[in-house]
Amino acid sequence: MNKQDTKGVLVYIETAGGAPVKVSEEILEPARQIAAKSGSDVTAVVIGENIGDAAAQIAEKGADTVIAIDSPDYKDYNLDAYADVLRQVIDDVKPEAVLIGATQDGKDIAPKLAAAFDSASASDVVGIDFDDDGNIIWTMPAYSGNILYDAVIEEARPQIGTIRSGTFKKLEEAPKGSVESRDIKAADDVIKAVIRDSVKEMAESVNLEEAEIIVSGGRGMGTKENFQQVVDLAQLLGGVVGATRPAIEDGWIPRNHQVGQSGKIVAPKLYIACGISGATQHLTGIVNSDYIVAINKDEDAPIFEVANIGIVGDVNKVLPVMFEEIKKIKEEA
Ligand SMILES: Cc1cc2nc3c(=O)[nH]c(=O)nc-3n(C[C@H](O)[C@H](O)[C@H](O)COP(=O)(O)OP(=O)(O)OC[C@H]3O[C@@H](n4cnc5c(N)ncnc54)[C@H](O)[C@@H]3O)c2cc1C
Repeated sequence: MNKQDTKGVLVYIETAGGAPVKVSEEILEPARQIAAKSGSDVTAVVIGENIGDAAAQIAEKGADTVIAIDSPDYKDYNLDAYADVLRQVIDDVKPEAVLIGATQDGKDIAPKLAAAFDSASASDVVGIDFDDDGNIIWTMPAYSGNILYDAVIEEARPQIGTIRSGTFKKLEEAPKGSVESRDIKAADDVIKAVIRDSVKEMAESVNLEEAEIIVSGGRGMGTKENFQQVVDLAQLLGGVVGATRPAIEDGWIPRNHQVGQSGKIVAPKLYIACGISGATQHLTGIVNSDYIVAINKDEDAPIFEVANIGIVGDVNKVLPVMFEEIKKIKEEA
């Protein structure tokens, strides 16, 4: 697409169980920033089955127009079908930028769309700004988050950015938009893979990306039996259990609980790190947490550099006390 023919921002709203996923609401904030810079609008697209409520919700959360594509054909996510539907919407709306949450599906779709338009995609974006010509500056991490670099997509349009969860906050005040239902079919010949069955249990029970509270355990927990204290505290707080790679490799908890560079990137309100040293590969996954509490017996552990509260002590002595105190507070409340 020619740069001068494009205007506005398109936001792809991913849903789970009929509701927008957290990052999809968050990306309305940078979308509004970009639209304000170019004096244009934000259009959101929701694809799925029974997504009417999600579309209505997004119209209240910062999109000027929400295109709702509601059909049993889109009951389950299918890369070929969803990408083709989005391609058709982009062809119609001609946005200067497309924002997508950097979820597993989002990272799947973005490069396919970029290729479809012979454009470019910025992956795992952790910040945006603008240069003197009004171009978007996309900030992205490299080398496990040890450095951040900026990229500008000068000519190719639409430019596509996948935004990391927790980078932006949901808008507190947003203009009210409208919902427009559309019937858009994916072309039959684009669908190369058909989903025969999907197993939801694992993904639903370990939704680290959406969790508001995460209690994570590392090698410092010592044994599988001790690790149970992490699970118990997470349950007490209504949170989700996370873990470092060594805890997983020792078989204390399944792999889908891993947080970090090769696990999940999380952004909870509260992250409690138990017996975790704070290696770069783990910190990469937790830096967007609002509040970090760390328990470690080594006062020089790097985790304390990012923690809001650091408790120096034996985790197997601290956790039982913490558990009982929180339980008491909960019972009194
Ligand atoms: C390519 C690559 C990708 C990786 N991806 C990931 C990833 O996604 N996620 C991840 O977590 N790691 C990842 N790693 C591994 C990472 O480098 C670290 O090895 C790992 O994060 C360390 O885990 P840990 O903190 O549990 O263990 P350790 O680094 O061994 O730290 C254990 C901590 O527990 C403390 N401790 C010990 N006993 C007690 C006690 N009784 N009470 C209190 N504190 C105690 C110690 O002081 C220490 O600080 C990756 C590595 C590579 C090379």
